[in-house]
Amino acid sequence: MISKKKYRPFLPGLIVLISLLFVLPGISVAGSTDVTDISYWSYPDYTRVVISLSDTAEFIKKRLSNPDRLYFDIRAGRIRKEIKTNLPVGNSMLKAIRAGQFDEGTVRVVLDLEKVKDVKVISMEDPVRIVIDIYGHTVVSARKRIVIDAGHGGHDPGAVGPKKLYEKDVVLDVALKLQKLLSRDPNIEVFLTRDKDVFIRLEERTAIANSKNADLFVSVHANASPNRAAKGIETYFLNWTDDEEAMKVAARENQISLRKMKKMLGERDVLDVMLGDLKREFKRDESVKLANYIQKAMVADLTRNYNHIVDLKVKWALFYVLFGAKMPSVLVEVSFISNPLEERLLSREAYRNELARSIAEGIVKYMSGSPEGQTVAGVGEIRDRRE
Ligand SMILES: [Zn+2]
Repeated sequence: MISKKKYRPFLPGLIVLISLLFVLPGISVAGSTDVTDISYWSYPDYTRVVISLSDTAEFIKKRLSNPDRLYFDIRAGRIRKEIKTNLPVGNSMLKAIRAGQFDEGTVRVVLDLEKVKDVKVISMEDPVRIVIDIYGHTVVSARKRIVIDAGHGGHDPGAVGPKKLYEKDVVLDVALKLQKLLSRDPNIEVFLTRDKDVFIRLEERTAIANSKNADLFVSVHANASPNRAAKGIETYFLNWTDDEEAMKVAARENQISLRKMKKMLGERDVLDVMLGDLKREFKRDESVKLANYIQKAMVADLTRNYNHIVDLKVKWALFYVLFGAKMPSVLVEVSFISNPLEERLLSREAYRNELARSIAEGIVKYMSGSPEGQTVAGVGEIRDRRE
């Protein structure tokens, strides 16, 4: 059983709204209604699905087995063309959400279930929506510790956009928002390497994570390129690479020249010390997993609300900031501050909120141990230089 205390609604004040507004199984109405959005939020112990409607509607709910699925038929419903009707969720409770125009007057929304303990459905008004909470068996028993690292700071502005937006300011704001979101879960403890505009050396950042005995380390950055057209989102983990583009990103974040970066690759002794324990401690595999969850959540969430989001996939390179981390660790490049359009997005509160929310979602999914295919950009396998 999930106790009332553990049940933590996503929106503040929701409990009050539920008691005032819920009517089950639906609210009868004469006219038709549009399905205007379908979204979901993953938490370690439950997944919330929200079907937004333009008007109140009657609906029926039915659960079918083999495979286990739950569907909702919304009467006198029409599905808006612009909304996403196929959402792969892939956590331990929910495989996917599908929606479509079942017949002329019915919209059907199907939830493909995984291992589910309980389902609660509430219809709410203002705005009109159907809220479905799916409870799984997953219990995050241990209190997880996460260190969020906002890149740069103080005299180091990081990359600077054409309109003079500073990477250090954007990533600090995203990190603070991320801390706030993750801290809503009583099982998660969040630490920041910096919570204000101060300079912290790269090697100190993982040292903070190690000293906190953190379970995860996530470094947040904004990308930059001399090519103003370059754009997109990518997530890195630490490994040896000879990929020119990945090396450029690492050289910039490491604050060294590309020449020095390349020279470092030839210094076998130095690299062996730096990368020596990667494989032994399974950190690399876990970092790949974490990177995938974050990258996929970001691309999926942002694509839902913004056009032309580019998925640059999961990559690897030698980032100083990830060296020596004793836990799965990744570096997220949230967008290109050097691209005028993405700089504009990065300057917006709504976009930063969305970035934080999607990174949080990726982290939570990783922690709940959801099955997920691991993919990385480029051709071939992740190579170890000694192989
Ligand atoms: Zn950076």
